[in-house]
Amino acid sequence: MNLTEYHYKDFKFIGISEGGIYTCVGIPRFKLLFDTGIGSPSLIEYNKILLTHGHLDHASGLAYLISQRSLRKLPPPEVYVPREIYQPLDEILKLWHKIENYESQYKLIPIDFNAHYDLENQFYFKALQSFHRVASNGYVIVQIKKKLKAEYKHLPGYEIAKIKNQNPDIIETVHEAVLVFSGDTQIEFVLKNEIVQKAKILFLECTYICDERPIERARKWGHIHLYEIAQYSEYFKDIEKLFLIHFSPRYSKKEIYETLKKVLPEWLYKKTTPFLSKERKETPFAFKNLLIEI
Ligand SMILES: [Zn+2]
Ligand SMILES: [Zn+2]
Repeated sequence: MNLTEYHYKDFKFIGISEGGIYTCVGIPRFKLLFDTGIGSPSLIEYNKILLTHGHLDHASGLAYLISQRSLRKLPPPEVYVPREIYQPLDEILKLWHKIENYESQYKLIPIDFNAHYDLENQFYFKALQSFHRVASNGYVIVQIKKKLKAEYKHLPGYEIAKIKNQNPDIIETVHEAVLVFSGDTQIEFVLKNEIVQKAKILFLECTYICDERPIERARKWGHIHLYEIAQYSEYFKDIEKLFLIHFSPRYSKKEIYETLKKVLPEWLYKKTTPFLSKERKETPFAFKNLLIEI
């Protein structure tokens, strides 16, 4: 996997995503990795791995990354997974110990939808239910911020300082969704989760963009079609930045850029970036008729 780098404000993202081939996006700042793709030596430094589901384009690199960290004497990674795949994954990893004749260390953690998992300082993450063909979830990274209550915002600084001395209650604590990562899902992940609609940065899957692979087909396979994002565009009005991931490899870069421009309303198109690899072909994928399900 040849990883690509994208930036938005304070965040750097490193990853790659093609539907059915591989998906992983890392945030170096948190040493946090959403999905492993098929594994890469460049991902070994990530000590928090958040799996969205067990499909191999998202999770097959897990055993490799665990083993590589262990061989380099790095601390065991924390691996967060949907509860339903906890046991089979644990079995696979232990079988791999036997095959390798080496016991790699890892901490496998079944996701609890009610839990807040701490990151650095004022950040934590939690899982959100997603809508795929198998047990799956997305993740949200939340920042806890202290903010002046709305009714005091119009006051000048010296007034605020004076009031604050008498009444510290003028400050409130807010939890802001900084980033959401969808994994594979149907559009309901956006429609049913207010926190997704309020996220500053949203990584959202968009597997299909053409008439040959219509909305019904996307839904049948547990995916999102670009036409649905256009249809429900009002749900994206508060999102600052939209990264679209997981495009089927049947589409060329050119096709993706042109179709996004054509299909999305201009205001949404302007804040949208397709997360595309360097490897993705500029011209239409030569073997696209062989791609039965992606
Ligand atoms: Zn996938
Ligand atoms: Zn999947």
